[in-house]
This record gives sequence, C-alpha cells and structure tokens, in this order.
Amino acid sequence: MVITLENYRGIVDDVVITEIYRKARRLYNKKILNINSTFQGGGVAEMLSTMVPLANDVGMDVGWRILHANEDFFGVTKKIHNSLQGDKIHLTERKKDLYFQTNENFSVYTHIHHDIVVIHDPQPLPLVKFYKKRQPWVWRCHVDLSNPNEEICDFLRPLILRYDVMIVSNEAYVRHDLPIEQRIFYPAIDPLSSKNRDFPEEEFDKFLRKFIPDYDKKPFMLQVSRFDKWKDPEGVIEIFRKVKEEVDVRLVLCGSMATDDPEGWNIFERIERKYSDLIKSGDLVLISLENNFLVNALQRKAAVVIQKSLREGFGLTVTEALWKGKPVVASAVGGIPLQIKDGYNGFLVDPEDVDGFAKRVIDILKAPELAALLGKRGREIVREKFLITRLLMNYTDLFNELSS
Ligand code: UDP
Repeated sequence: MVITLENYRGIVDDVVITEIYRKARRLYNKKILNINSTFQGGGVAEMLSTMVPLANDVGMDVGWRILHANEDFFGVTKKIHNSLQGDKIHLTERKKDLYFQTNENFSVYTHIHHDIVVIHDPQPLPLVKFYKKRQPWVWRCHVDLSNPNEEICDFLRPLILRYDVMIVSNEAYVRHDLPIEQRIFYPAIDPLSSKNRDFPEEEFDKFLRKFIPDYDKKPFMLQVSRFDKWKDPEGVIEIFRKVKEEVDVRLVLCGSMATDDPEGWNIFERIERKYSDLIKSGDLVLISLENNFLVNALQRKAAVVIQKSLREGFGLTVTEALWKGKPVVASAVGGIPLQIKDGYNGFLVDPEDVDGFAKRVIDILKAPELAALLGKRGREIVREKFLITRLLMNYTDLFNELSS
C-alpha cells in the first residue's frame, strides 16, 4: 500500500495535514525532479523514498532519478565526500575527468523538462554544467560541512555558484563565503515506514532470533550505521569492551552497504578479522543486510543505542532510535546536538571520550527508569521537529517561492 498524507492523521495534528494540502495547491502541474546516486543505503535514499510518493499524493509531480556510475566514480566521489568532512584530498586530473565525464554522459540521455531540479550531494553536483539552464536548480547537501577541506571547496565552488539555492542540514554548515542563497532543512524520518512503525513485539523478537545467537540470554547495545570510518565502528567496540567489564551485554553493529559507498566491505572485513574472538563467543554480532524491518526490530529491542560518529551530517539513525523511545548515547558532533539535549532526552559525549561513552551506557543499563524517561522525551522531540511532514512543508515552501 502506498502511504498517503491522510495516514499521518493521529501522529501529527490535523492542522499540519491541511497546511500541507494548502501549500501544495499552487504547485499543481509543476514538474519537479530529484537526482541522487543511490536508491538504497544511507539517509538520502531513505528520505527520498518517503518524500517523493507523499509529494505526489498531495498533487505535485515529483520524480526521482539515479545517476548512473561505476565503482571508480564512486571511489572519487567518496573522496570528495570525505574531504568535505575534513579529510585531505589530492584529485588527479584522471579523477576529475571521471567525475565530470560521468555526469556529462548521464546528461546526454537524461532529458530534463522539469520546472525545478533538486540535486542531492556531491555525486551529481556537476550535472548543472551540462544543461542549458531553463529552471531553478537546488543543491541539497547532506554532508557535515562544519570543517571542510578548503581545497575541495575551491574545486566545487564554480559548480555550486550555478545553483539558485543550496540547502544544508544545520546552521553550522552555512558557508558565509558562498554568495548564493542558503537554507537550512533539518532531515526527517517517516513514522509509517516499515523501519519506524509499530508492529507486535513478538514479531520483532521472532525476527531477531534469526540474527542474534541466544537472543533471549542477554540485552544488547546497538549501532546502526554504514561501515564507514566516520561512524567509527571500532570505537563502538572499544566502548563495548569497557561496558562489558561491568554489565553482561552484547554489541550488535548493523550496517548495510550503500552502492555509492565503496569503502564499506573493507571496513566490515577488517572488523571481522580483528574481532573474530568476540564474534565467535556471540558477544559481537555483525550484520550487513539491508532490511528496514530488521533495523526497526533492532532499534526497538536494543537496551541502549550508540552513535559514535566522528562527523555526522545529521544522523537519521539517532532520530529513528529517539522515535522508538530508546535511550541514546551519541557524539556531540554534526547534527546530533540538534536532536539530543544532553541529560534530557539522551546523552552527548565527546567522540574521543571512550570512557565517557561507557559510563553513560552503564548508567542507562543500570537504571531502567532513567532509560524510559529519556526515551519518552526523545519521542516527543522527534514528533515536534523531525517528522517527514515538516520536511515536506519546507520543500513546498521553497518550491512555491521558486516558482512564483
Ligand atoms: N540504514 C539502514 N540499514 C543499515 C544502516 C543504515 O537502513 O544497515 C539506514 C538508517 O536506518 C538511516 C540511514 O540508513 O535511515 C542512515 O542515515 P544517517 O543520516 O544516519 O547516515 P548516513 O548514512 O546518511 O551518513
């Protein structure tokens, strides 16, 4: 069943529902196109898979296309992504060529007759250069721009200047040296997707027994994240080792492989080799499957959710866990402090402070009433600020302005 806006009644106020219908009204017959580089894996695909059907439900014509590219290309764009988050970069001429050529090739057979184009992240950013511009183009940048490498900024700058609006996820990512209009849209989750909605408890348990050996024996800590150095999975294992000295828990690391992230398998296999003893004993469970219901079950049933990112554009995994009423202990980086007020609806820790993380996790594991209180407040914050209905309003406002 395709979800419609009406289904959100009871989760958000009716005022929100009618407001969205009203804002969409002036956009009938407007054709809007989204382009990103993967259908699955990561937050961008996650949001588009809800936003696009909902926007169509309220009467807009919104499409979604995927940039076609090979592994080499994604190797280059991952480097660009990493350097936007602060890494050093040296792009050879061959790599620059591949970046532009892939976009140019795609432009040849991807005809754009839309009224507005929305480009997500750096992979399809150069597309704008290969079309005669007949409509507003929006660049939606989802990465953590708090501390970018200046060399990559200089390289991308002429491309970004061609856009009409740039959207970022956080006030701290606004680039004051870029003379283009910049807006802040907080990301959002869909409370009705199979990843986030309620199911009977026993269905979650039954499903998890397939993945976690002796599932009923002890509680588990969880991090759900791509196997990516910025998500610091090995750091999570260090926290787990410390927690384990005091409380008998296990750790589940769940990270599916995004097609536009070529580094995932290397990191996964390294962890598999390095921590084989923990895996054999059943204390560390690694999962690489892409499955929304699985993520839902894990987040529902975890005793505590960790997000030990070193950089984090926003952190939808945090939003998802908060929505499920879970206690979350997370790094105070990127978009995470927008979602967690330390001590009120979760705990924020310096990403380098493994002991600090372990202490907070132990506090929560030892005090179920604290866990419940944090979780209850977390869910309310998400309801107020981070549901897909609010994001849909942000987009309809922007599209109305751009087409008036
Ligand atoms: N995700 C998933 N399965 C996994 C790992 C991640 O479905 O094994 C989803 C996760 O639930 C979230 C998104 O991918 O919706 C990750 O978004 P986030 O903003 O946390 O990080 P990103 O991957 O965009 O850096």
